[in-house]
Amino acid sequence: MANPNFGSRLGNHFWGIEMKKLLALTALAVVSVGGQAQTFPGSKPVSIVVPFTAGGPTDRVARDLAEAMRKQIPGSNFVVENAAGAGGTIGATKVAKAAPDGHSLLLFHIGMAATPALYRKIAYKPLEDFEFLGMVNDVPMTLIGKPQLPANTYRDFENYIRANAGKLNIAHAGLGSASHICGLLWQSNLQTKDAMTTIPFGGTAPAMTALIGGQVDVMCDQTTNTTQQIESGRVKAFAVTTAKPLAGHPVLKHYPSLQEMGLKGFNLTIWHGLYAPKGTPAAITKTLNDALKKALKDPEFIKKNEGLGALVVTDNRTDPAEHKKFVAAEMVKIKAAVDAAGKYAD
Ligand code: ASP
Repeated sequence: MANPNFGSRLGNHFWGIEMKKLLALTALAVVSVGGQAQTFPGSKPVSIVVPFTAGGPTDRVARDLAEAMRKQIPGSNFVVENAAGAGGTIGATKVAKAAPDGHSLLLFHIGMAATPALYRKIAYKPLEDFEFLGMVNDVPMTLIGKPQLPANTYRDFENYIRANAGKLNIAHAGLGSASHICGLLWQSNLQTKDAMTTIPFGGTAPAMTALIGGQVDVMCDQTTNTTQQIESGRVKAFAVTTAKPLAGHPVLKHYPSLQEMGLKGFNLTIWHGLYAPKGTPAAITKTLNDALKKALKDPEFIKKNEGLGALVVTDNRTDPAEHKKFVAAEMVKIKAAVDAAGKYAD
């Protein structure tokens, strides 16, 4: 006679092993919601909110990251949602106020640290209203111009800007955006601060369209948006914002660094980080942090980044505590600079 316990023992054993395997494989977090055990992410998509328009550099990073994250949690669905406007503050507010269930995340760049200094009335406090999930990558910027500009070298470009003071415009993605910060720093280093009119967009994707079409003259934007446009000759590039030229990059290596061109100490790289609303359960943030760490080791993600001049972060920068410490330090640095200038967005 069959052992009546055999089937169930075998069954428990089987399920024990399979469940363990499944949990390890899918990195599911089991969380208690209203006293009920639930798995995360389950069948509901995880939305990565990009606080700028679709098709731009932050969006590009988010879409590549969503794909890499999806691979780490089989069966999951990471999607990108664009919530553009006001230098990224609309999207960041949206996530700060979202349900802390791991299904609304924010991918934001240096603006996470810059917007609280520039906007005194924003509805979020980065260090209090978010869980830090780890940093993602570092992206250099490029100074670019419309294809019709007569200059071909940085020197000619600078002379052209000075000679045409008051007649040119510079595009950016809103006050506090990376393109805004870069344009400000560049112009104040050149001491031509009021030489150009600033034109804000909801992101640098539409700004790029305007630049290619010749409706705006100049822009400073991340290489994740500019590399392909430079390569195809749709815009003119004049310099990179990193301290040294990007010697190893097939397209960007042709441009000098602003520092080399005499802008002493100019060194600007845009970092990105991933965030969840404050109060997201620790089991979920751990699942997301584990998936992020693995995603950043995905050779395809690394290759895509490097192709566009960006570098995926390594070491302990994916550690949430390190990420938070870094943003806190950046906030202090940027606030001191903004307060010294006395110019605010609101
Ligand atoms: N590059 C933009 C910025 O200046 C943002 C974007 O469109 O992704 O911050």
